[in-house]
Parts: sequence; structure tokens; C-alpha cells
Amino acid sequence: MKLSSYFLPVLKESPSEAEIVSHKLMLRAGMISQSSSGIYSWLPLGLKVLKKIENIVREEQNSAGVNEILMSTIQPADLWKESGRYEDYGKEMLRIQDRQERSMLYGPTNEEQVTDIFRRSIKSYKELPQLLYHIQWKFRDELRPRFGVMRGREFLMKDAYSFDLDLENSERSYNKFFVCYLKTFERLGLKAIPMAADTGPIGGDMSHEFVIISNTGESDIYFDKNILNQGEKISEINYEDDLSALVQNFKNYYSASDEKFNQKEFDKNVKKELQMTSKGIEVGHIFSFGTKYSESMKANVLDSNGKEGPVYMGSYGIGISRLVGAIIEYSHDESGIVWPLEVAPFQIGLVNVKSNDEKAKKVADEIYQSISSQNIDILYDDKSDNAGVKFSRMDLIGLPFQVIVGNKAISDNLVEVKNRKTGETSEIKIDNISDRIKELIF
Ligand code: ATP
Ligand code: MG
Repeated sequence: MKLSSYFLPVLKESPSEAEIVSHKLMLRAGMISQSSSGIYSWLPLGLKVLKKIENIVREEQNSAGVNEILMSTIQPADLWKESGRYEDYGKEMLRIQDRQERSMLYGPTNEEQVTDIFRRSIKSYKELPQLLYHIQWKFRDELRPRFGVMRGREFLMKDAYSFDLDLENSERSYNKFFVCYLKTFERLGLKAIPMAADTGPIGGDMSHEFVIISNTGESDIYFDKNILNQGEKISEINYEDDLSALVQNFKNYYSASDEKFNQKEFDKNVKKELQMTSKGIEVGHIFSFGTKYSESMKANVLDSNGKEGPVYMGSYGIGISRLVGAIIEYSHDESGIVWPLEVAPFQIGLVNVKSNDEKAKKVADEIYQSISSQNIDILYDDKSDNAGVKFSRMDLIGLPFQVIVGNKAISDNLVEVKNRKTGETSEIKIDNISDRIKELIF
């Protein structure tokens, strides 16, 4: 992509309405545009990151054997009346009437809808387990939408649902998602800590929030420092193996967010010097809720004895649009965003500092051609702005590597490669640049 034909409305100043760094940087880097309170349009740079995150989440769901579907955003109120949540959900739910005056709503989540899909066709234990997910926009009329995409009213979520015959099998599905989440967040370049979360009246220990440490997070988190060292080689774990020991290992370390925190237990289980307290951002939540919806909505299955009973369910969410902000909170410096390679909108930023010079232009054009032809995402700053403007814009948008074509390209056939994260630079012969880039990226 050439910057001269790219829509990148960067801002010099921090917009006054933004309170936290990720919101400021997303507006300054031209990633989003506010539509109304808590509702955003995604501009090219932001959309690219959103799609990259979405794809990583999708690939990891697929590799865990979860089936992708796409449920509608608009749902009939009748389904929610069956579960009893139509009244309970209160003002967070956006309620709509269609022209026949039927009550509809914009889905804040999909338990009822997916249970309806399930009960229409699955009747026997032989067809279990069923694991389904979708990636769809949600609407919740949050009391205090804030922090940009972190607490929006309209937001993109991956939500998955599991259906099993009984508690034991349901735990197997739960563990699968637990491991899948560890893998997903690792690929996103994040250390997400699983934390015991509220189970409501269902009880048990099958509810975890995945939280990343950040001083702008909205949750207070308390954990044993040692939990940070767990989960080594998580990417190599096979879903066919028994995952219970691995999951139990995490559960053995104290970690809880505010709603579940208990000081006495914390002191009893964790030595003072290992007690960690911080703020955190919830990026995912997994929850096994048994027969809560299947009982009220009559989603029953037959077991091997021909006995009918309600199916055991769980739901598993990841806040995809929240993650865009969360990753920036996690990874930035005073000059701007520092994207992890996996989610970067472009892997390489090419800057021609001497855009008026024929030779420099030729060199930059050729580098652009050869890198783009290798399936590498590259943004080429071919504009005529001065060097200072170009460098600060490139730092702001945070592409992992910059290739800089300047004076030495003209005099000595050398270009500079800069690592955005470390600031390290090295000079590379123009002829070798393509190989060097491949080394850095693949
Ligand atoms: P929170 O406590 O932050 O309101 P929640 O408990 O309501 O979250 P869930 O219903 O479990 O969240 O939704 C799953 C995931 O969706 C959350 O872990 C979070 O990452 C994301 N999410 C929830 N609400 C929002 C929102 N208003 N804006 C952006 N992402 C959200
Ligand atoms: Mg909420």
C-alpha cells in the first residue's frame, strides 16, 4: 500500500475526549472514528488490526475443533422470554419493534439463540459434544461507555457455546476452551492470566476471566506471582490429550478479580512476597453454566439409556474489538503504538526521506515492489512531507520494522532498518534488503 493513496487521517494533538493512552493513540493514528457515544466506525488502519485479531481468534477456534456459524444481530424477544432474561437484562438491551409491532432486540449475547438452534436438531447423546462459535457485533447500552473501543456500546465479540451430555463431559469442553484461550492470547503477543470468576448460583470452579495486567484496566486483580510462569510450550499442546492436569495446574495458583477476591484466602494460600495486586483488562471469559438455559428452553437430549434430560452448556467469549485497545495499552511508548508482529496492520513501513531525488525514489520503488511481491504487508510512505513528519507518523502507527531510504541510499547503496520496539537500527546493502526482511518476519 502506498501512503499517497491510503486513507490515514492522523492527528497531531491528542483529542481531549480521550482519557487513556490506547484511545488517544487510536484516534491519533486514524484507526477509528466516533459515530456516537461508545459506537465507532473502523478506518483502514484500525480495520486491518481488527481483522488480524479476528483471524487469529478464528484459527485457534478452528484448530480446537469448534464450528464457525454466524447468528443474526437482531433476535426475537420471544426467545429471551423463554429463558426469562428479557426482563432481567434491563436497560443494557437495545429493544426494537418491527413494522408488525413484534418485539425484537439487538443481541447483547447469544445463549438463547444458539440454544434454539441446538434444540431444533440435536436430540441424542450420540451427537454430542457440539461446539459452535461465531464472531459478531453485539450491542449493550452500557451505563458508562468509555475508553474508546475498550468499553463500547457496539463491539465485536467471539462467542462460543458448548453442549454436552453431563457435567463431566462439559468439563472436558471447558478445559478445551481454557487451553485454546491460552494459545490464542499467546499468539496475540499477550500474557493473559486466567482468574477465578463468579459462577452465580451454579457454583463450582468453571468460570474464568482472562485478564491482562494494565494500569488502565477496570478490574482489580489479585494473584500469585508464580501463575505468570505457567503454560510454557502451550502452543504444542494437543487437544486430543487429557487437558485436566494442565488446567488444574493453573487453578492451583490463587488468582481472582475483585468480584471473587477474598483477602483471607489470599493470605492463606499465597506468601506475602508472591502476592501481586494490580489493575487488569478482561479480554475473555469462559463459563460453564450447566442446564441454566437448556432447562428453561427445553433443550433436552436422550442418554444411552434412553432417558431424556437437559443438555449441559458453557459459553466462551473474547472481546475482539476490546483487544485492539488492550494490545495498545500493553504495547506502546512515548512515540506511539508498538504493534506485536502478529497483529500489526503492516509488518513493514518503508520511508523514502528523499522523495525529490530520482535515485532514492527508484530505490524505494524497487524495494516496495520486491517486498510486496512476497506476501508481506508493507506501507510505503511515498509522500512529499519532510523527514521529521514522516518519522513521527511512522513511529505513531507502530509498524514493527521500518526501512528508511535516505542519503546513504544515493551515495553508498545502503538503507537503514529500524526495529520499532527496541529502536535499534542497522545499515543493509540495498541488494540484501529483501532477504533481511524475510529473516525478520518469517
Ligand atoms: P465487563 O465486565 O468488562 O463488562 P462482561 O462480563 O460483561 O465484561 P462478557 O459478557 O463475559 O463480558 O463478554 C465477553 C467479552 O466481551 C469480555 O471478556 C470482554 O472482553 C468483551 N466485552 C464485554 N463488554 C464489552 C464492551 N462493552 N465493549 C467491548 N468489549 C466488551
Ligand atoms: Mg459487561
